[in-house]
Amino acid sequence: MQSTITTVALPQAAGPIAHFVTLGGALVALVQGFDPDAHLYSVRANPKHAPAGGWPVYTWHCLGCWAARSGDTPSTDLAAIRVAANDHAGTCRAVPQPDQHR
Ligand SMILES: [Zn+2]
Repeated sequence: MQSTITTVALPQAAGPIAHFVTLGGALVALVQGFDPDAHLYSVRANPKHAPAGGWPVYTWHCLGCWAARSGDTPSTDLAAIRVAANDHAGTCRAVPQPDQHR
């Protein structure tokens, strides 16, 4: 059985880096993107030292109930996003969307 993963819009090169399973069996995707302009790193970013592709940013998106991090705004705090994604999975009762099982 092949799964199709849908990701949320992020600045660039977004892709899931981890998944959590909801109580109903749907997936919560922890998604990494890249912020080439360092908007979210404005205090500490130095354009001269930009990593290839930009600075990493993260968000989560439930593929069962379509909930997402507040405002769908990515964050630079991977640990906090991981905890939030796992917390959502631990309370969400959504079952997988039909297109996740094609
Ligand atoms: Zn959910």
